[in-house]
Amino acid sequence: MRCKSIAIDGPAGAGKSTLARQLAEKLGFLYVDTGAIYRTVALAVLRAGADPADPAQVIPLLEGLDVKMAYGEDGVQRMYLAGEDVSQAIREHRVSGLASKVSAIPEVRAFLLEFQRRQARENDVVMDGRDIGTVVLPHADVKIFLTAAPEARARRRLRELEQRGQEADFDTVLRDIRERDWQDEHRPIAPLKQAADAALLDTTNLNLEQSCDRLLSLVKEKIGL
Ligand code: C5P
Repeated sequence: MRCKSIAIDGPAGAGKSTLARQLAEKLGFLYVDTGAIYRTVALAVLRAGADPADPAQVIPLLEGLDVKMAYGEDGVQRMYLAGEDVSQAIREHRVSGLASKVSAIPEVRAFLLEFQRRQARENDVVMDGRDIGTVVLPHADVKIFLTAAPEARARRRLRELEQRGQEADFDTVLRDIRERDWQDEHRPIAPLKQAADAALLDTTNLNLEQSCDRLLSLVKEKIGL
């Protein structure tokens, strides 16, 4: 039987990963955070001392890249780079901007496309990212475009960073979010945009619980789970 797939796309800080994880848990699906995969590639580029915005420096690195994804006993997705667990390291603030830069390189996207599709062939998935409904899984059973006003997203991101003990201030986080939105929306390949058949969910004025309820009812409407 064909596996079921739910695609959730949207800009940084809209609550995608938290909501997608909760949804996956409720449905018993595998949660695939594709941003973590791009972040792992960005970390590899950083460690190699290459310029993430320069395709001529990044592309030659792809061939020898050893990126793996696995799930712990707690069900949490973990990323490995050359055998090292980098799940924490890829969450550093500087890696976010670098991931956005490497992800604009077509060869990087092509390199990761099959990696992502394989997950959806082998498992029922809730997959989140920027181009899941438009490029990676164009035939997903449910497509959701999750968004929120930049200020609301910056507030949430700031709280997250503070909880992790990382220092940041609101203006810097907001500026980084706007910059990353712009990069993600304006890249020529697989830009961040709502798929024509995706349902829009704006979480600006919703808390986590309300957002999760809305998401669940959208999914039930579509596939009657
Ligand atoms: O979702 P997250 O913020 O972890 O993603 C980091 C970066 O990876 C994004 O800013 C985006 O540029 C890139 N990305 C992408 N396509 C995806 C997932 C992430 O281009 N499917």
